[in-house]
Amino acid sequence: MLDISRATLCLGITLAATQALADENTTWRLFVADHAQPLVQAIDATTGKTLDRFEIKSPARLYSSESGSTVFAVQRDADVVSVISSGISLSDHGDHGDITIEGPRLLSSEIAGKKPVHFFDRKGEIAIFLDGEGAARIVTEKSMIEGTPDIREVTAPSPHHGFAAAFGDHVLVTEPHRDKPADELPIGLRVLDEAGATVGELHECPDLHGAAASGNLVAVACSSGLLIVRSGAQGPSFNFLPYGKDLPEGKSTTLVGGKGLQYFLGNYRPDAVVLVEPESEQPFRLIELPTRRVHFAVDPIRPKFAYVFTEDGKLSRVDVVAGKIAGTLQLTDPYSMDGHWNDPRPRIAVAGDKIAVTDPLKGVIHLVDAATFARSGEIAVEGKPYNVVAVGGSGEAH
Ligand code: ZN
Ligand code: ZN
Repeated sequence: MLDISRATLCLGITLAATQALADENTTWRLFVADHAQPLVQAIDATTGKTLDRFEIKSPARLYSSESGSTVFAVQRDADVVSVISSGISLSDHGDHGDITIEGPRLLSSEIAGKKPVHFFDRKGEIAIFLDGEGAARIVTEKSMIEGTPDIREVTAPSPHHGFAAAFGDHVLVTEPHRDKPADELPIGLRVLDEAGATVGELHECPDLHGAAASGNLVAVACSSGLLIVRSGAQGPSFNFLPYGKDLPEGKSTTLVGGKGLQYFLGNYRPDAVVLVEPESEQPFRLIELPTRRVHFAVDPIRPKFAYVFTEDGKLSRVDVVAGKIAGTLQLTDPYSMDGHWNDPRPRIAVAGDKIAVTDPLKGVIHLVDAATFARSGEIAVEGKPYNVVAVGGSGEAH
């Protein structure tokens, strides 16, 4: 209802207004979490200006929603997930897109629960898995923005390091290890219906860790291959894609999903990434890196590219069509992968025409021009800028 009336209103204004009133606008914002402080800063990616600072409860891992309207700050050590309105909303008006720009703000809606870790957004339904409870809280982004969270919960048999994903009327949830649920990774995925009852069999996925969506597919990483989930009229369907014989010994434990092109990019051994195209004759292509991998991200705007940051301080551009590295750029001092997994190290986000890479030990964000793949500036950020997400886009503001 709301969407229709807004569209009608917008159409009315468009017809009544002169061309000059329709303003093409492009805005990108970076949301940066500090490594040590319970702080998220919102920064204009074009001007480098800090728009706002949000005090939260513990250092956070950040996730932007699919729509870009919100940023979720998952605070494992504070047992809470805070939600920040990005201040940018994009809507489709058929022949053109609209952008509405407001200030970013911390929403009153939050999700509380023991040890929240994994976040999964599927078409505006966001599932937060609480390792300490062995349960997931699922909310619609819309209800969080409106301040009336419509939280529903699904539970697994015991606390474990798991994940859940909303799938229409169904929910996918990890099945914990039978003997050592708290120490071992989950053994598979279960489908639950609206009443929380199991539908069908357990879908086996030993040492399950890592999941991503790309187009209409969700891929889940297991020790022996990927479980590919498709949505259908009868609920989700599954097929297992074993790692190919031409791949060396290894497995993926983190996946990101392509935007615009259907593919997944996963880690695979410390010094390589694997490109996965589930529909292809040769679904896995290994891409070796010069040194160990620190972080990787897909380019949502230029679907052909993804980026990998390695411990030698270099950013590599991966051509996902050719399955090759196409350009490498020295960006920071080395960041060794020896030491704790959670030591401050660079993270990547793509903000429109710029690739942003945090450099926590220098207190800056490096910007790389996405078209030329050359350095284009840096933004000084107080503290240790660590996890980063970018939100933005273009549209008309009538
Ligand atoms: Zn419009
Ligand atoms: Zn994890």
